[in-house]
Amino acid sequence: MSAEKFIRSDVQLSAAYPVPDARGYIKLDAMENPFGFPEHLRSALNQCLQDVALNRYPRPAYQELKEKLRTVYNIPEESQIIVGNGSDELIDIISKAVAKDGASILAPEPGFVMYRGSAMQARVNYVAVPLSTVDFSLDMPAMRAAIAQHQPAVVYLAYPNNPTGNCFADADIEEILRIAPGLVVLDEAYQPFAITTWMSRLSEFPNLVVMRTVSKWGLAGIRLGYMAGSAAWLSQFEKLRPPYNVNVLTEAVAVFCLSHETAFTEQTNVLRAERDAMFLRLKAKTQLHPFQSNANFVLTRFPDGPAMLAELKAQRILVKDVSKMHTSLANCLRLTVGSPQENQLMLACIERFIV
Ligand code: PMP
Repeated sequence: MSAEKFIRSDVQLSAAYPVPDARGYIKLDAMENPFGFPEHLRSALNQCLQDVALNRYPRPAYQELKEKLRTVYNIPEESQIIVGNGSDELIDIISKAVAKDGASILAPEPGFVMYRGSAMQARVNYVAVPLSTVDFSLDMPAMRAAIAQHQPAVVYLAYPNNPTGNCFADADIEEILRIAPGLVVLDEAYQPFAITTWMSRLSEFPNLVVMRTVSKWGLAGIRLGYMAGSAAWLSQFEKLRPPYNVNVLTEAVAVFCLSHETAFTEQTNVLRAERDAMFLRLKAKTQLHPFQSNANFVLTRFPDGPAMLAELKAQRILVKDVSKMHTSLANCLRLTVGSPQENQLMLACIERFIV
């Protein structure tokens, strides 16, 4: 009996998502919140978790969680909400739902790798449109041409974008919403660090879905993503959501944390200030090119990216090498904003190396 005989050849040729072992490292590679769970909320959370019915399946409608999300994040009354086991799962649901013969999913690149990976797993044609190489803004002539040619079922726009950190211009997004024949997903994974959001504009655009995650907000470990949009799209996606995909512990922790939202907002405020300070300190080194960021990371071009990466690693600091992700990212590393102390250590290492 051979697995190769039965497993799809594209799956056989693919690789599992690589996650490096970070034990013993300062972990600045995955945009996690570096602060532990707020001290003053720990015993109340423990108390709350004791009452969770672990012997029961989750209630599949996730009513309480959705209501909390709606009030805390001002999700319009008329928008539906779907929850996922991380937004990665929601991206998969979207890919599956549109996987008709000849369908395409389109996204600007460099961008979040899961849009491509998920489309390919669902056997949907994936169209990458390069961002402007000057400032990573949307190349609108290229976007217009690609949308006209491929008539994509879905256009993904990460807002802010990963790994570049910028928010695309509102006028460009509005135009894409107008000309796209299908769905436009505004992926606001980094929204806690940005000033603007499209959530309040959902009612204006029936083909807009806003996707979010609690991962960057301080809860990457619980795996919870959600998306909001019109019933026309979401009621179809809901059919592909695995039943009970968000477990009872995740639901309980999320409801609890959303009720104590300010504690997390205080943490993200610190990280925003740290990000801006990090950007200025990197910019002060003329050999470096940091890109202005609205997220909790700073993409930076180094004179010799691989050498910088190796030095950081030697100093037990883990950052993300994005230099091979796209031609426009040569010598670039993506530096997650950590705690003030972690950032000091990383910046000191960079400053010692770049003389
Ligand atoms: N969207 C973007 C733009 C991201 O960068 C990430 C995580 N790197 C995700 C979605 C996935 O988030 P989650 O942890 O909820 O799966």
